[in-house]
Amino acid sequence: MPKRNLMALEQTLAILKPDCVKKELIGEVLKRIQDAGFSVNALKMTRLSKQTACGFYAVHEGKPFFELLTDFMSSGSCVPIVLEKENAVADFRKLIGATNPAEAEEGTIRKAFADSPPHNIVHGSDSAENAKKEITFFFTQQELLINQG
Ligand code: GDP
Repeated sequence: MPKRNLMALEQTLAILKPDCVKKELIGEVLKRIQDAGFSVNALKMTRLSKQTACGFYAVHEGKPFFELLTDFMSSGSCVPIVLEKENAVADFRKLIGATNPAEAEEGTIRKAFADSPPHNIVHGSDSAENAKKEITFFFTQQELLINQG
């Protein structure tokens, strides 16, 4: 009997960061994401205030790069996206590559498009638990249900 694929669909949160938007790379990066098998479940363009950026990255508060990171994340528009796929969290982290683009593998989005931290084009949740929190950070229940009808 053929083995059935029992992996469930999973969601992750991506953010096309302000450097991605400023470099006019939204389309190109989104195409790579969709070509890799991710479905777009919800998407918006927004601009984080400094305070909201500090809230999103609260886990990094006190680190030497915190000010730079939150200044950068509030410096222009960004595009949060809810992505869906089997094994979405881990697969998306693979697709984007290492935090420091200089260390990212060939073929990854950060290797192809990013400069140096904090300017690394795209965010991806690092666990399924954080993905859930990050999705509700950016999207209301109503926005998340739009795609289900
Ligand atoms: P990620 O999960 O790969 O995005 O990495 P982290 O959660 O560790 O860090 C969050 C974001 O902070 C990264 O994506 C970078 O934009 C920035 N960042 C992380 N480490 C550094 C660093 O050492 N220096 C600077 N300038 N920025 C950093």
